[in-house]
Amino acid sequence: MTTKKCSKCKLEKPLTEFSIVKHTRKTGNVKLYPSSWCKQCASDHINNWQKKPENRAKITAYRKAWVAANKDKIAAIQKRCYLKRKEELAVIKAKITEDKTQ
Ligand SMILES: [Zn+2]
Repeated sequence: MTTKKCSKCKLEKPLTEFSIVKHTRKTGNVKLYPSSWCKQCASDHINNWQKKPENRAKITAYRKAWVAANKDKIAAIQKRCYLKRKEELAVIKAKITEDKTQ
């Protein structure tokens, strides 16, 4: 198995511990390569950034803007979830009725 050294924690880790970065050049050529930080370091970095109070406001503002810009998308997701749940409940109800009749 090939390994790579993380540029943040400086540990040698297997390639499966690194996210794959997709880079599209102006020519349209796509290059895939492992990230310079391992998944653990990247995750720790994001978690630390999100915990800072000054960034909480940024996250809240971004989410509010995203929700306002994607109302149709959210409605479609909610409808899909509602219909899926409705089907699941119908199966459960049918099973309960079946059990009572026996
Ligand atoms: Zn690392």
